[in-house]
Amino acid sequence: MTWLALALAALIALTILAYSRASGLAWALTVGAWFWAAAELDGGWSLPLLVPGALLLALAVLLIVAPIRRAILTRPMLDVYRRILPTMSQTEQEALDAGSVWWEGELFSGSPDWAKLHEIPQPKLTQEELHFLDHEVEEVCGMSNDWEITHIHQDLPPAVWQYLKDRGFLGMIIPKKYGGLEFSAYMHSQVVTKLATRSSTLAVSVMVPNSLGPAELLIHYGTQAQKDYYLPRLAKGIEVPAFGLTNPQAGSDAAAIPDVGVVCKGIWEGREIIGMRVSWEKRYITLGPICTILGLAFRLTDPDHLLGEKEDLGITCALVPTRTPGVNIGRRHWPLNATFQNGPNWGTNVFMPLDWIIGGPARAGQGWRMLMECLAAGRSISLPSLNTGMAKLASRCVGAYARVRQQFKMPIGKFEGVEEALTRIAARTYLMDACRIMTAGAVDLGEKPAVASAIAKLHVTEMGRQVVNDAMDVLAGKGIMLGPSNFMARAYQQVPIAITVEGANILTRSLIVFGQGAIRCHPWVLKEMEAARHPDPRQGLADFDHALTSHIQFALSNFARALVMGLTGSNFVRTPEAIDPRTRRYYQQLTRLSASFAFVSDVSMLVLGGGLKRREKLSARLGDVLSALYLCSAALKRYEGQGRHATDAPLLHWTIWDTLYHAQIALDGAIANYPNRLVAWVLRRVVYPLGRMFHAPSDELGARVAQILIAPSSDENRARDRLTAGMYLPKSETDPVGALEAALPAALKAEIVELKLRAAVREKKISGPDHAALVEAAAAKGIINLEEREALARYARLRDEVVKVDHFPQDFGLSVKVQERAAA
Ligand SMILES: Cc1cc2nc3c(=O)[nH]c(=O)nc-3n(C[C@H](O)[C@H](O)[C@H](O)COP(=O)(O)OP(=O)(O)OC[C@H]3O[C@@H](n4cnc5c(N)ncnc54)[C@H](O)[C@@H]3O)c2cc1C
Repeated sequence: MTWLALALAALIALTILAYSRASGLAWALTVGAWFWAAAELDGGWSLPLLVPGALLLALAVLLIVAPIRRAILTRPMLDVYRRILPTMSQTEQEALDAGSVWWEGELFSGSPDWAKLHEIPQPKLTQEELHFLDHEVEEVCGMSNDWEITHIHQDLPPAVWQYLKDRGFLGMIIPKKYGGLEFSAYMHSQVVTKLATRSSTLAVSVMVPNSLGPAELLIHYGTQAQKDYYLPRLAKGIEVPAFGLTNPQAGSDAAAIPDVGVVCKGIWEGREIIGMRVSWEKRYITLGPICTILGLAFRLTDPDHLLGEKEDLGITCALVPTRTPGVNIGRRHWPLNATFQNGPNWGTNVFMPLDWIIGGPARAGQGWRMLMECLAAGRSISLPSLNTGMAKLASRCVGAYARVRQQFKMPIGKFEGVEEALTRIAARTYLMDACRIMTAGAVDLGEKPAVASAIAKLHVTEMGRQVVNDAMDVLAGKGIMLGPSNFMARAYQQVPIAITVEGANILTRSLIVFGQGAIRCHPWVLKEMEAARHPDPRQGLADFDHALTSHIQFALSNFARALVMGLTGSNFVRTPEAIDPRTRRYYQQLTRLSASFAFVSDVSMLVLGGGLKRREKLSARLGDVLSALYLCSAALKRYEGQGRHATDAPLLHWTIWDTLYHAQIALDGAIANYPNRLVAWVLRRVVYPLGRMFHAPSDELGARVAQILIAPSSDENRARDRLTAGMYLPKSETDPVGALEAALPAALKAEIVELKLRAAVREKKISGPDHAALVEAAAAKGIINLEEREALARYARLRDEVVKVDHFPQDFGLSVKVQERAAA
């Protein structure tokens, strides 16, 4: 009995030590105390106690006394580590080094400090920015009609282009001293989101000059002369920029571009200079067909050593005015019916001065690093904003449509099947917006969150695709018939574009989120790698020793934490004071998930080593868990930041349950497919000691979420307005979105009158062959008054406007268009 108690005490003590990340000394003292207690109980130091005690003492000395540990343990381990450490190309290294680690680092810790999440300030707009949104952005949305842009102009109309240039839309990120608007990242995101609720061509045309491209690269790396010349011209739209990286042979593997520049002598403006002869073939370049200044990425070589010793200087970025002889632009691609300008460009042996390199000749060969460093900001803003705009449009309009459109004498939104789709649309829009706001906010705080921006790009665009698919299912035929009355088809057509650009989603999920996250966000892995590559062997050994011991402590702790939280249902995990008590369990569950994730990650890195890079399915699933932790953080932050509105709570609850449930599926999938079955068995027992953690959100909760979409906001419940805040809402009732805006309240008023009519029919007070006759009879008998009769008529008119689809002549009007064009 006594020995059993001692064994139990040892188990508890060891678990507490591991759980609390205790120091080596604390471990040694605890183990020593245990042996002392055992000896006391046993009546002295018997042999069975003395032998393990002595062995453990030796082990403690080995582990705690740093010089001994380093000599006997760390040095051989460092030698092995150096041998198995995968070699990394310079471009891989630069991609890995780029950007910063932000909140995602906490999520990798196994013990996120949730108070820190809520200390991150909420992004805010200035008065000037608010004014711009309410005036310039509102105005240009009003000037833009997506059907006409796509099917008549095949571009933004000249007046819209001019307005965008004159009002500085193309220079939102350019500092004021260069004539730009110098908006915050959050404001930039708000603008793109709002434009995307009106026209994707409009949004993309504004988004691209403000994303990774000439302006951004000049601001960070340009010479003063380049900044002084180009930035004011870009800010006012005198120059239209594009950036060409993608080559037919190098898409995802962009660092492999075969486009080359060769440093050589040549004649420039009448005199001989050292310049470069550049040949390139680019495709898919947004704004490429109309750009006046082309940012170009190519590999620069110096075979004659005109610049120095190095021959292969590496990827270099230059700004090439497109009027330069030999530059070919103008032809267009047709990206899934989108009419933003996009096309190929090319040039062969085009001679240009070295001054055209962004940052001047000193920056030759630094192009990849420059691009990687700026990637996070663009990824945090552009596509998350574009897709959130589409999702807001879907939420607001499809929700309204589901109330206005009736089948089987019921609004279709009240059928459970449609309700299910509406639930997903609303909850995903909530989450997408939360992720967009939090990630753009990080950029304003000076972060370049490499992993968070990849998560935002990947998941907001994926959720965007799901929202648009659900929206199309609810709209059915109305969504399929193209024409000016269709407000959703363009999003459906173009959703794959966002999936593909700025790191195609399969690659981002399989390779980047966890691949980069495991190295960048893990508290010790990068430090171990840096130590292994340290040029000074003594310092390298000392750094590696520190990183390795901390790493072991970290892994042991996550093992204990995952197990203990699994056994206790994470009920004892501490949560921050200043949160809505109703969300307390989420923080506890997320802490448990973080510990489980960190533990499985460490085991995977240990078991698979460099091979993990090739196990893309495992990497993708672990990335999904990290992403879920990030997305839930964003949702909780949004909920708190917006003032914990009780009416938003269903959106938060459904979102968190659904995201956690999917994280569990991902974690389950990772463990079930683990290449080593024994390790898989251990992982499952640690992560799910008492079974799975999360279940899918309930149908009852889903119904409350869907309800938000199918009724207009009221003074008591503004959840729908908050969900779709920042949308462009046209006033005209002949605009498809404007018609839905008017039809939704009209439908609700009409529903009340319809109830009166039905009651009157049931009570046999009125009868008639059709609805019109019943209305007539009810009005005649005073069952409904004039106002109610008008409400029915208004609803009928708006309903007809909302459900209508377009039809065209046999040739879709093409011959008329051709004639008009010829005349023009
Ligand atoms: C509308 C549009 C606008 C664009 N604008 C620009 C622009 O302005 N400037 C510019 O330079 N480029 C631009 N691009 C190019 C864009 O960045 C590339 O399309 C993108 O990088 C993917 O390259 P790819 O299309 O050649 O696909 P591929 O590289 O051929 O990839 C095909 C598939 O394989 C997957 N894949 C590739 N490698 C891996 C891997 N290791 N692991 C897992 N999956 C992998 C990808 O995820 C993808 O699903 C644009 C593209 C489009 C469609």
